[in-house]
Amino acid sequence: MRIYKYMLPKLKIYRPIRRNRISQGFGVENTAPHLLEAYKKMGMRGHNGVDLVVDHKPLFWNCNVRGFVYKISVDVKGGIGLDIISQTREGYYKHRYWHLKEGSIIVKEGDWVDSGQLLATTGNTGWSTGPHLHYGLKPVIRDMNNIYHNSLQNNGYYGAVDLAPFFTNIFILNLMKVLYEQVLSLMRRIFKTQRSLLNKNI
Ligand SMILES: [Zn+2]
Repeated sequence: MRIYKYMLPKLKIYRPIRRNRISQGFGVENTAPHLLEAYKKMGMRGHNGVDLVVDHKPLFWNCNVRGFVYKISVDVKGGIGLDIISQTREGYYKHRYWHLKEGSIIVKEGDWVDSGQLLATTGNTGWSTGPHLHYGLKPVIRDMNNIYHNSLQNNGYYGAVDLAPFFTNIFILNLMKVLYEQVLSLMRRIFKTQRSLLNKNI
């Protein structure tokens, strides 16, 4: 079946880890001043994602749609990273998680992951001054060979954009719990109605 854009939900991003303290936000105005020069040397205007202080903790797929595990990077020196693609009404987005713990990624390239699914453990690999999770978001387009390309590659952040417009600061597993409870109470209501209808028939 062909998927039309209007059939897809809007992109929603939740917190991928249980606790969160943002140490560095997105963009030149949220970049730690002492790191600005380093980002400039790497060809960027400033920080190209959000840094969450977290010490080797579980990382979960944190969107409202299923994700496609696109790429796993395992160069310890460059950092262990995971790229997951989401498809929503806004199009395709690449979600990039970096500095993961060596050997901790439990998904494979080509896997589909559900909201709240465990992906890996955060860590301190690559260019990192302390354990944290770098989370980047890049709008991408898919070519005929199923390769995804950054659609804003020359925006000064190698295609990354601020995730703030899509972000709700609720831990994804807490959200799943809320949804689960809503489904349960709905089922209880349906069951109750059915039972009272049955009683009437008897
Ligand atoms: Zn970062």
